[in-house]
Amino acid sequence: MTEKASNFLATIIEDDLAKGKHDQIVTRFPPEPNGYLHIGHAKSICVNFGLAEQFGGRCNLRFDDTNPEKEEQEYIDAIKADIEWLGFQWQDEPKFTSSYFDQLYDWAVHLINEGLAYVCDLSSDQAREYRGTLTEPGRNSPYRERSVEENLDLFARMRNGEFDEGACALRAKIDMASPNMNMRDPILYRIRKKAHHQTGNKWCIYPSYDYAHGQSDAIEGVTHSICTLEFEDHRPLYDWFIEHLPVPARPRQYEFARLNVNYTVTSKRKLKRLVDEGVVDGWDDPRMPTISGMRRRGVTPAALRHFSDMVGTSRAGGVVDLGMLDFAIREDLNENAPRAMAVLDPLKVVLTNLPEDHFESFTAAGHPNRDDLGERELPFSREIYIDRSDFNEDSSLSRKKFKRLVPGEWVRLRNAYIIQADEVIKNDAGEIVELRASVIEGTVGNDAPEGIRPRGVIHWVCAKHGVKAQVRLYDRLFNTETPDRGGDDFMQYLNPESLTLLTGCIVEPSIAKAEPETSFQFEREGYFVIDRYESTPENLVLNKTIGLKEVWERKV
Ligand code: ATP
Ligand code: MG
Repeated sequence: MTEKASNFLATIIEDDLAKGKHDQIVTRFPPEPNGYLHIGHAKSICVNFGLAEQFGGRCNLRFDDTNPEKEEQEYIDAIKADIEWLGFQWQDEPKFTSSYFDQLYDWAVHLINEGLAYVCDLSSDQAREYRGTLTEPGRNSPYRERSVEENLDLFARMRNGEFDEGACALRAKIDMASPNMNMRDPILYRIRKKAHHQTGNKWCIYPSYDYAHGQSDAIEGVTHSICTLEFEDHRPLYDWFIEHLPVPARPRQYEFARLNVNYTVTSKRKLKRLVDEGVVDGWDDPRMPTISGMRRRGVTPAALRHFSDMVGTSRAGGVVDLGMLDFAIREDLNENAPRAMAVLDPLKVVLTNLPEDHFESFTAAGHPNRDDLGERELPFSREIYIDRSDFNEDSSLSRKKFKRLVPGEWVRLRNAYIIQADEVIKNDAGEIVELRASVIEGTVGNDAPEGIRPRGVIHWVCAKHGVKAQVRLYDRLFNTETPDRGGDDFMQYLNPESLTLLTGCIVEPSIAKAEPETSFQFEREGYFVIDRYESTPENLVLNKTIGLKEVWERKV
C-alpha cells in the first residue's frame, strides 16, 4: 500500500479490509492525562496514527480519564501539543472517556439487569483474599447472589453518594475459578468522592479502566484497539463486555510489545518523580525521555518517526539501544541542519600582520549539499577566537596525532586563511590567555603555497562580530543501562554530570538571527538547537542535541 515496512498489525488490517470486514479502519491513541508523553508513547502514537494514515483510516485521540485524582489540564495540553508536533492529527475533537460516563453507567445497569453484575461489600483486603492466587481458584463473594432489584437499588445509591469510599463496588459476575485472574469478577465501578476535571462533582463513582476502555472503543467505532502486551490477559474481559453489552460496534484488541530503551526510564510515575524532586528542570528538560524534552534538546519529529519505524512493531519484546535513536537523529540533522561555526571554549587569536581596522567577509555554504539552505556571511577581522583544544603548546606533538595548531606551524581556518602561530601569551598563573599569529596572504580559497604545511582545518569565529552564547551540553541522565530494573531505586543511578553549562561561547552571527528551535551543525562539534523558551537574539541559549559521532562509552 505504501513503501513503509509492514508489520503484523498492518497485515491484519490489510486482511480485514480485503475481506470487507471494515470499509475504513479506526484506531485510537488513549493516553491517561497523568503526565507528559515519553518515547514509548511516541512509538504508540506512530503505530496508531501511522496505521490510520497508511490505510486511509482515522485515529482518535482519547484521554483515558477514568481516574479523577491525577489528571490535570496541563497534561492534556502538553499531550495534544506533542502529537501535533510529531506531525499527526486526530479525527475531530479530542475525546474523553469521561464524556461516556452516562452511557457506561447505563450499560452497568444493563449488566445488573442481565444478572451479570452485582454490588459487593467486601473490603479490599477481603476481596483480595477471595480472589485466590495464580495457582488457586478464588471463592465467590457472599454478596454475589444478591437479587437484581437489590443490586439496582444499591448501585443507584452508590451513585447518589450514600456510601463511603471502599464500602462497596460494582463487580461483573463472571467466574471466580477462571485461570485468568482478570475474569474473577472484576470491578466495574468504585466509589471515589473526588471531583473530576471534566465532569466536576457529577459523579462519585468511577468506572475501572477495564470496564471503560472497550466500551469507549465501541462508542467511537474503533475497529482496531491497539495496546501493549501487558493487556493481553485483559483481552478476554474486553471481549466479554463487548459480547454482553448492546454496544454499537465490535472493536478488537491487538497487542504489541512495549518499547523499552536502555539508559532510560519510561514510566510517567518515575518521570514525575524526577520532576517533583527537582532532579531535572521540568517535564521538558532536554535530558528527559519525554517527547517535549527531546524536542527541546533538538530531536526532530522526523527522527522520532524514523526511530519508531526502525525499532519495528512486533510481539517480541526487548530493549532497544539508545544508539538507534541517536542514529536516527544524526541522519536527519546531517541532512537538514545548516552548518555554522561556534567556539565553545574560546581562545583569542590576534592576527598581527593585519591592520587594526581590518575587515573582510567570506561567504560559506549553509550546507555542503543543500543549495536551498543558502549561504552565510563570515565576517573576519584582526582578532578571532578558536577553541582552546585546537592549540597545543607542545610543538613536538606528531602531525598525525594532533592535526591542529602548535607554535611555529600552520592550520587552515575553515573557509578562510591559513594562519601560523607565532607567540603564546600567558597570565601570571601561567595560563594561556592569547595567541599571536599571522595570516598567510593569498591562501583564502587557494591551496597552501610551497613550504607551508597546515596540520589541519579548524573552526573559528570573528571576535568583533561573533555573538556570545550560553551552550548546554547534555549527557545521559542515567549511568546504567537498566535504571528501570525492578527492585532497585532508579534514582540511585542518576548521572551527576548529565548537564554541563558553558557560558562564554562565541558563535557566528548567522545563528543569532535564527528562530528558536532552529538546529545547526556546529562544524567539528555536533548538533545544537536554539532553546525554544530561553533564547533571545541578545541572550542566545543553545542546547546540544548530539555529537557528530558516537563517542560515548558504554558504562556497564
Ligand atoms: P506509563 O507507565 O508511562 O504511565 P501507560 O501505558 O500507563 O504508561 P498511558 O497513558 O496509559 O500510559 O498510555 C497511552 C498509550 O501508550 C497506551 O496505549 C499504552 O499502551 C501506550 N504506551 C505506553 N508506554 C508505551 C511503551 N513504552 N511502548 C509502547 N506503547 C506505550
Ligand atoms: Mg496507564
